[in-house]
Amino acid sequence: MIYFDGVYKRYAGPREAWVLENIDLGVDVGEMVFLLGPSGAGKSTFLKLVTLEERPSRGRVRVQQFDSATIRRRDIPSLRRRCGMVYQDFRLIRDKTVEENVAYVLQMTGVLNRDLLRTETRRVLNRVGLFAKRNEFPENLSGGEQQRAAIARALVHQPTIILADEPTGNLDPEMGAEIMQILRHVNLSGATVLVATHDAELAERFGDRLIALEAGKLKADRRIRRPPQRGPED
Ligand code: ADP
Repeated sequence: MIYFDGVYKRYAGPREAWVLENIDLGVDVGEMVFLLGPSGAGKSTFLKLVTLEERPSRGRVRVQQFDSATIRRRDIPSLRRRCGMVYQDFRLIRDKTVEENVAYVLQMTGVLNRDLLRTETRRVLNRVGLFAKRNEFPENLSGGEQQRAAIARALVHQPTIILADEPTGNLDPEMGAEIMQILRHVNLSGATVLVATHDAELAERFGDRLIALEAGKLKADRRIRRPPQRGPED
């Protein structure tokens, strides 16, 4: 569902090196993929190419029926609606409660019916275990809770792709693992999930597949073998 065909990216500016260089890969529906690499490797840029927040300098990016080479400007919002974004710094609105933060996204997509807003918002807050905190403001939540609120916000418009950029970067390891569990559940219920991280251990633990980037180049792309889940009888 996501294809990078010979993608090169460089930003305009004094330092015109390639930020991504000749990236060729495809991600299937339902995969949970980790983009692994140190800071500056090009992971965020990769995610921004998926939503076409950035355009490839060469090559093309295809996401479902959208193609960076041919997409019309007016169709970009439609692509973005299929994507849910999660960031390292949560990006919640400080003067809105958790519930208002989540509902706001739906309002922006044109959902104005109060009952529908409430049902959909509470559905995702339940899903991330944050229903009880729905009336809190972000500053009264722990980092892990803020990230759960941000995941609820990313899920509320039912995207098919979740893009998470260092989602555990501001969290201690325990909360980080909790956030990964939630993303894993989201993945198991059908979403394709891409997580950018520099944390190899998390990637190994939670991913199906690991794509390693180094200075903009694809260094490795491998499936992570997991032990089969067996019941006591087999
Ligand atoms: P990562 O997410 O792996 O840390 P990024 O994709 O953020 O990597 O950045 C890769 C490289 O591109 C870095 O050298 C960074 O400075 C540069 N870069 C990122 N965004 C921009 C931008 N908007 N303009 C110019 N250079 C950028």
